[in-house]
Amino acid sequence: MASKPHTGPLTGRCYCGAIGFEIDAAPQTAAYCHCTDCRRLTGAPVAAFAAFAAADVTYLDAATHLKMSDDVERWHCGRCGSALASWFSYLPDQIYVPLGVLDAAGSLAPTVHCHADSALPWLHIADDLPRVMGSAREVLHS
Ligand SMILES: [Zn+2]
Ligand SMILES: [Zn+2]
Repeated sequence: MASKPHTGPLTGRCYCGAIGFEIDAAPQTAAYCHCTDCRRLTGAPVAAFAAFAAADVTYLDAATHLKMSDDVERWHCGRCGSALASWFSYLPDQIYVPLGVLDAAGSLAPTVHCHADSALPWLHIADDLPRVMGSAREVLHS
């Protein structure tokens, strides 16, 4: 990572502030995701997430739970709708937290582009990070 690694508890909150949280653990990885689901979830041209050990993410009870399928579960603020966490069956012991809701997002640089084949054609991110077609589960879960 180009930026300094974060130390100490990570804090974050949703847009309206109804849900504030603290994660007392370092992220396992951070990644861009260009898939269409993440684009719709966030409303942004590309999403970016930090992955944590599931046991370290303790604020999910305060959030609204959305079970999309047996393979995908999401949590968001029930008041303002901010995306707060995601879980995927193929990454079972990890929780993905959108970088944008973390106060220290500036020090949590993504290290890979997932679903690079779905990136919007006009979006040009000038880095030399690996571009992975598909979910990059092997990279994320290593
Ligand atoms: Zn909120
Ligand atoms: Zn995605």
